[in-house]
Amino acid sequence: MATERTLSIIKPDATRRNLTGKINAKFEDAGLRIIAQKRIQLTKAQAGEFYKVHAERPFFDELTTFMASEPVVVQVLEGESAIAKNREVMGATNPAEADAGTIRAEFAESVGENSVHGSDAPETAKEEISFFFSGLELVG
Ligand code: ADP
Ligand code: MG
Repeated sequence: MATERTLSIIKPDATRRNLTGKINAKFEDAGLRIIAQKRIQLTKAQAGEFYKVHAERPFFDELTTFMASEPVVVQVLEGESAIAKNREVMGATNPAEADAGTIRAEFAESVGENSVHGSDAPETAKEEISFFFSGLELVG
């Protein structure tokens, strides 16, 4: 197993409900370290660029409108197998299918407004981290 870094986003439904600290506690309890973090407001165009892999999906407009609707907290998580570990802590995309104790089971409002984003593979983690952070901002 290797130490990895992954990109996490606390989405607008969660920042609106003041859940940043409760979600961060889930990461830290799982052994993930928050090595970079900032609260930002995305434009719809920036949200579209970040989620461009989903551009042809029927939910793309809803997703990008939602992601630009209120501030998000973008963060880099570091730890052993951080990419897979974060996906475990997040739970399934649809909160109705998420395991008990996961962030989405506890906090998500719907399949779209599901509180967190997490990278899904090493290559996307690298791309997504550099979308939001410069090397100088990553202090492991
Ligand atoms: P994940 O975030 O678990 O990696 P996906 O990459 O499949 O999930 O989808 C990206 C995001 O798009 C989801 O987290 C969710 O916010 C939104 N989304 C996915 N499927 C739907 C859907 N059927 N309806 C509305 N929004 C969706
Ligand atoms: Mg995804």
